[in-house]
Amino acid sequence: MVCTGCALLCDDVEIGENGCRHACRIGDAHITSTNQIDPMVNQSPVDMDAAIKSAAEILVSAEKPVFVGFGNSVTEAQATGIELAEKVGAEIKTFHTDIFDDILDGRVKTCTLPEVRDYADVIIFLGCDPMNTHPRLLSRYAYYPRGEKRQHGWEEDRTAITIDLRFSHTASICKEAYTIDPNRQIEFMDALMDALSNKVPKTTYDKKRILKLAGTLKKAEFGVIFAGTGASAPPRDAIIRLMDRLNESSDFRLLPLAPGYNLRSIAEQLRQLHNRPGDDGDGGSDSSSGGSGMDLHEADCILCLGFDLMNSLPAHGINGKMIVIDPNETLTSRYADVVIPCAAGGIDCAGSAVRMDGETVEIPLIRESERLSDGAILKQLLEVV
Ligand code: SF4
Repeated sequence: MVCTGCALLCDDVEIGENGCRHACRIGDAHITSTNQIDPMVNQSPVDMDAAIKSAAEILVSAEKPVFVGFGNSVTEAQATGIELAEKVGAEIKTFHTDIFDDILDGRVKTCTLPEVRDYADVIIFLGCDPMNTHPRLLSRYAYYPRGEKRQHGWEEDRTAITIDLRFSHTASICKEAYTIDPNRQIEFMDALMDALSNKVPKTTYDKKRILKLAGTLKKAEFGVIFAGTGASAPPRDAIIRLMDRLNESSDFRLLPLAPGYNLRSIAEQLRQLHNRPGDDGDGGSDSSSGGSGMDLHEADCILCLGFDLMNSLPAHGINGKMIVIDPNETLTSRYADVVIPCAAGGIDCAGSAVRMDGETVEIPLIRESERLSDGAILKQLLEVV
C-alpha cells in the first residue's frame, strides 16, 4: 500500500488486522483516522445531494471565486478541479508551490530521493523539520541509509545540518544546527554567500561558525538542500541565489518539503495550463500562491479542496462564502457555509500522485467505503454549474 500522509508516498506500508506496518506515526494516524464529517449547509446536517446543490448555487452566483488547496487530492481530482475552476472563472491558489515552480522552470537543480540516498554527503534542512512533517525522510533517504556511494551512512559519510528559526527535533540529531533570527534571515544568507566567496562576512552572527559552514558546503561532492515552508516565504530568492553560489564551487540540489502529499502534481498541472498555446502566461484564471491574482479577502466564494484554510490564515481575512470538500473535520469545516465530505486519496479513493521528487506513484485503495471521492463530487459540480 501507499501512504498519503506526506509527499514521500511510502510504498511499503502494510495494512493488517493489527494496524499498519512500516507507517510512521503521521502515516498511521492518517490511515486509521476516523475524524470524518457529515454533509452540512449553514452548520446543519443535510444529505449529500443538498450539500452539492448548495455548493453549486454559491459557485454560480460568485463573481470572484477562488479555489484553494489541491495538495491532498489525487492527480485526477486535481484535473477535474482545474476544469471546474475554468468553467466558473475561479482562480486557483495553491500554497507552498513556489519552489516546485522554480524546479519545473529549471531555475534550480534538483534530484530524486533515491539519488539522495545513494550520493548525498552534505544535507541541509532549511526551514524545515522533517522529523515532524516527513518522518521517514531521514531513515529512507536523507541521513541513515547506506547508499551506493555512501556505504557508511550517517556515521561517516553524511553531514546533516539544520538552518532554521528554532532548534527543532531534526536539529537535535544533526551534526550542526544554525538557529537564525526570523527578522534577519537575509542577513544570514548574505553572510553565508560572502563566506562561500572567501570573504569575511559582515554580520552580527557568529562569523567563525558561518565560515566553518561555508567550508563544509564547499567540500560537498553531492549536496542537497531540503527547503521547508519556513524557507519559501521572503527568502525564496535568497535560496535561489544561494543555490547558484553553491554550484559555483560544488554540486548542490534542491528539494522542497511542503505539506500535502500531491502538491507537486498541481504545480505541474497549473504550469502546463499556463504554458499551453494561446495562454499569455500571466496565470490566466489560475495562479499558484505568490503569483498575481486577487487576495483571498477579495474573494466572494472560497472553495477549500482538502485544505484547512483557517488553520493557515486568520479568519478575519476571509469574507466570502466558504465551501469545504474534505475527508476530515477541520477548523475550516466548522465555519464553512457548505461542507461536503469526500473519500481520502490512498484510503478509500484510488488514483495517482506525484512524489515530491517527481516520481509518479499509483495509489491503490486501502478499504472500500460509501464516500464519494473528491473527483466525483467535483464532476457533479461541473455538470450542474
Ligand atoms: S513518511 Fe509520510 S508517506 Fe511515509 S509513512 Fe510517514 S506519513 Fe506516510
